[in-house]
Amino acid sequence: MVETKTENPRKTKGAAPKENGFAKGDKNNNDLSDYEDDLSQLIKADTKSAEAGPHKMEIVWFPNAIGFFFLYLLTLYSTYLLFFDSKWQTKVFMITSMIFAGLVTTMGAHRLFTHRTYKANYWLRAFLIISQVVAAQVRELFILLLIDSYFVGHAYFVRSCDQKTELLAVGLSIDAIAAEASQRAFNSADATHSCSKNCLWVWVRDHRQHHKYSDTDADPHNASRGFFFSHVGWLMVRKHPDVIAKGKLVDMSDMNADPLIMFQKKYYKTLFTILAVIIPTAIPYYFWNEDLMKSFVMCSLGRIHWTNNLVWLVNSWAHLIGTRPYSENILPVESFFVSFIGLGEGWHNYHHTFPWDYRAAEAGKWPNLTATLIDYCASRGWVWDRRSATTEMVINRTVKKGDHTHPLFGDKTETFVEKVREIKLAKEYTDQQVEDDMKLMGRLRPDESKKA
Ligand SMILES: [Zn+2]
Ligand SMILES: [Zn+2]
Repeated sequence: MVETKTENPRKTKGAAPKENGFAKGDKNNNDLSDYEDDLSQLIKADTKSAEAGPHKMEIVWFPNAIGFFFLYLLTLYSTYLLFFDSKWQTKVFMITSMIFAGLVTTMGAHRLFTHRTYKANYWLRAFLIISQVVAAQVRELFILLLIDSYFVGHAYFVRSCDQKTELLAVGLSIDAIAAEASQRAFNSADATHSCSKNCLWVWVRDHRQHHKYSDTDADPHNASRGFFFSHVGWLMVRKHPDVIAKGKLVDMSDMNADPLIMFQKKYYKTLFTILAVIIPTAIPYYFWNEDLMKSFVMCSLGRIHWTNNLVWLVNSWAHLIGTRPYSENILPVESFFVSFIGLGEGWHNYHHTFPWDYRAAEAGKWPNLTATLIDYCASRGWVWDRRSATTEMVINRTVKKGDHTHPLFGDKTETFVEKVREIKLAKEYTDQQVEDDMKLMGRLRPDESKKA
């Protein structure tokens, strides 16, 4: 048992709850009064849980914590294979499938389904829903992958080469049985996140909850408990009672009404076994004769766990290490590093300030591969109604709430404040001008990316 203090150092000022991640006040205007209303409700909620005494965090050693330990060991082995002991085609396949999985998660699960920042046609939505299975943002299923790896390993080391494929099939069948057993165990113990799958529906519910109760006890990966907890530790402990209680209040009516999403939810385990385990393992084995064990460890297990860890950096790093130009009253930060490896998801202070903006970053912020891809889809007519904050809204928020690290509007000097006032009065500052100025300021202030 580990006793924790779950106070959020910034809770007294910010982390305003929002419906489905949409800030009520931001959608049509830049009035901040709604934030203040939400804030008072949040403070009341936090006071209640504080009165009940400090929460005792209970670690679930088996299978969660121990499972993750072995999972990280196997992932390290997959990294060794990637650099030193695999065919070049397998290396390319592993890296490209990681980028693919990351892009469908950021573009689909995050910006389309959680925040509804743009609209997409049927085929693109279907593609993103099915592809989310390949991304396999799974939690407890990793433990099942350990069981798989045992059987594949047994097949590889003990039996002769021509029996490997058959034994892989046996391993995967046992996986299906273990999946059922594991789900029942998790459900009865109400351990961490009891669903032994992380289908799109669960992903969206948890992320909406994260935005609505950011960095409070009701946030599944509350970053005010530190880097490790918000990164992976939250998957090794029992849920905080507030997470369970508030999770039931998240509005999921739009997801429930979508037959494609409910199909993916219903058949998630089958789809997962086929799309995230069997096919990625089989491709290197059949097309360029990669060793079956290496195929499995690299392209299924290692790929999934590496991708997940990069995504988790948004919950940990991008809530703790960086600047807060749009709102200094919330934990999320701007991080060049996380944006680079997270395909544009590291501009997190902006994203929590304007969660309905499809770019998840201010105009001109680079890198943001996901926004580029959405723009491309829009140019082909597959995507429309992209929502984004106006320059005036950004200036207003930055000047009022930011920590003065914004390269254009963060300067505290009189001349700069005057300039911002002029800009606001004139309302002639176009998005293109902001983009050009951002690039210019980026060059003039090379230390900005270091701060982020
Ligand atoms: Zn989000
Ligand atoms: Zn966040």
